[in-house]
Amino acid sequence: SNAPHGIRRVLLKISGEALLGELDYGIDPKVSSRIAAEVAAVIEAGVEIGVVVGGGNIFRGKGLSASGIDRVTGDHMGMLATVMNALAMQDALERAGVTTRVMSAVSVREVCEDYIRRRAIRHLQKQRAVIFAAGTGNPFFTTDTAASLRAIEIGADLMIKATKVDGIYTADPMTDPEARRYDHISYDEVIERKLQVMDTNAIVLCRDQSMPIRIINLNQPGELQRLITGENVGTLVG
Ligand code: UDP
Repeated sequence: SNAPHGIRRVLLKISGEALLGELDYGIDPKVSSRIAAEVAAVIEAGVEIGVVVGGGNIFRGKGLSASGIDRVTGDHMGMLATVMNALAMQDALERAGVTTRVMSAVSVREVCEDYIRRRAIRHLQKQRAVIFAAGTGNPFFTTDTAASLRAIEIGADLMIKATKVDGIYTADPMTDPEARRYDHISYDEVIERKLQVMDTNAIVLCRDQSMPIRIINLNQPGELQRLITGENVGTLVG
């Protein structure tokens, strides 16, 4: 790899909500192609990249169960929603010239590969983008936790959580003008202060395995590339 600053492999978490763009439901093709271009630039820079996609733009188990659906069934629906998002991202990535594999934690064998860790690493080594679908494969978990898990499993140097804000703030920057951005914050502080960046399971997993997390704004064009080339963007949790 010709990547600077020791970043050779990253795991990027994209929420389903990010794919909405200006839509109320589904996937905004403008957003998926913009993200694809950013991912293509990362690979171009010689950095291997795995992507975990959420499903909240389509279904969330919790929301479904509030409307009467069994929670586990709802979570299965949520996981399948992430498979759909993964396919949309794969399509966008391949249009951007990036060879891509979708690997799912639940078998959807006519549609994508099953997640097999050693295979995933092999794909990454061949400069393929790997999209990890269906979260952890288990109900009651989130795709944030899946992102932590996959980042650790593939030996990523960094987990990147793409959000709509450029880091973690002391308060909600949308409503509180006094809100300050953290440059760096510890895992335990994120948990203690109940900062709503990722669920606690996801943070604890990264803490226990010393996996650094960067919170960045993916609506900011070029942010991902600046991070890869060693700029201090967003907030570092670690
Ligand atoms: N889900 C699950 N297990 C997992 C990951 C996801 O059951 O390991 C289900 C859960 O119902 C969740 C939905 O899939 O609400 C979509 O994932 P998530 O809410 O994490 O998506 P995001 O908020 O990132 O769009």
